[in-house]
Amino acid sequence: MTLYMERFDAIIIGAGPAGMMTAIRAAERERKILLIERNSALGKKLLISGKGRCNLTNACDIGAFLGKFSESGDFLRNSFARFFNTDLISFFKDACLKVKTERGGRVFPESDASGDILDALKIKLKNKNVRVLSGERVREIIVKDKKIQGVLTYSNRHFLAERVAIATGGLSYPETGSTGDGYNMAETLGHRIMPLRPALAPVFIKERFIRDWQGISLRNVSLTLFAGKKKIDERFGEMLFTHFGISGPVVLDISAAVHDALGLKNDVKISINFKPALDHKKLDARLLREFNENPGKCIKNIFKNLLPQGIIKRFLEYCGVDGDKNVSQVTAKERKALINGLFDLRLTVKAVAPVKDGIVTRGGVNTKEINPMTMESRLVKGLFFAGEVIDIDAKTGGYNMQAAFSTGWVCGNNI
Ligand SMILES: Cc1cc2nc3c(=O)[nH]c(=O)nc-3n(C[C@H](O)[C@H](O)[C@H](O)COP(=O)(O)OP(=O)(O)OC[C@H]3O[C@@H](n4cnc5c(N)ncnc54)[C@H](O)[C@@H]3O)c2cc1C
Repeated sequence: MTLYMERFDAIIIGAGPAGMMTAIRAAERERKILLIERNSALGKKLLISGKGRCNLTNACDIGAFLGKFSESGDFLRNSFARFFNTDLISFFKDACLKVKTERGGRVFPESDASGDILDALKIKLKNKNVRVLSGERVREIIVKDKKIQGVLTYSNRHFLAERVAIATGGLSYPETGSTGDGYNMAETLGHRIMPLRPALAPVFIKERFIRDWQGISLRNVSLTLFAGKKKIDERFGEMLFTHFGISGPVVLDISAAVHDALGLKNDVKISINFKPALDHKKLDARLLREFNENPGKCIKNIFKNLLPQGIIKRFLEYCGVDGDKNVSQVTAKERKALINGLFDLRLTVKAVAPVKDGIVTRGGVNTKEINPMTMESRLVKGLFFAGEVIDIDAKTGGYNMQAAFSTGWVCGNNI
């Protein structure tokens, strides 16, 4: 039984960064807007983003920014041309929120609190008179004679509008409310959903010895991905060992390529180069110098200058070198094995964590079916999209959040 029949200019489904921005921009244009969120609170994922600090954008230029997205990144060119990082920063400045830029151009609120970003969005929603309905989950978009009529919620409430935006996010971290509802709604209305898979996800490793390295993080390492003998990808940065494998920024960034490689080959390996700044000759000279300067010391003590303490025992075992051996007794063959281990420690990939554990979802509503100038569906008039529900995903560094805000702004500017 239908309980409510209220009419709006547009209805936005989902109050993440994309949906909230859509609603704010549309309301600035004097539209009567209803924003519906299934959770009792708005922006649940935004709150946990950036480890509670929310890396809201990146300070790099548009060319570099687009380069951080997978194939469909070009779709975002117009959104970024209309509403980019400086616009986002001004938008928040207008709500009295200051930001700071950190290493790698990552932009955070000065307070380090994602809650301040959410508060600023809530203030804007209130000031622009957006009607917010939380704790209500949209079940269906109503279409009659190929025309959008409104939405129906799970509690059987019916809201009318000729324009509806799907901003329901992806499939990652479903406990935040993003359970893929928008994909089903879009598919029902004829849209193609590109295969959904994890991006920015941890990687499970077969070798059990790395469990002893759990909690240890490494800076300035390079990772190379191999499928069989073929080199697929290479990345430089920071990584972390976990109880099941590896994670951290450089691993998350390479994970989508790992996932794709596993689809083609069983034999997928990741090589860690602990000393990417050195070449073979320099590393050999460094080892020899350490050996000469420390006669009488055992090899495991020398390695304290080369690797984190917690790694050394298993690392030397991997290289087949006895850690208690005196440096004067290390053979040329053993030195070579140590150098090989430092440059190329091979780990066998078991799997990439499932999409629910990825930071973002790769795949989603096919970008070819959305007009990038307006975010309107090319198939259904009055249907719009914003944010992660679209087939867009980027590396870590604030790019995904900016994409949600930018597509939201364009969507709100046209809905
Ligand atoms: C742990 C973590 C950390 C992250 N950190 C960063 C970071 O620092 N920087 C960055 O750029 N990106 C980060 N991301 C990615 C970023 O948070 C997302 O890309 C972004 O939130 C996507 O915004 P969205 O509005 O499209 O979707 P979401 O934020 O997922 O919002 C969608 C909303 O729609 C609601 N919804 C879903 N279905 C319905 C329905 N049927 N009816 C009503 N409402 C519905 C959901 O409850 C949800 O609130 C992080 C992600 C995670 C998981």
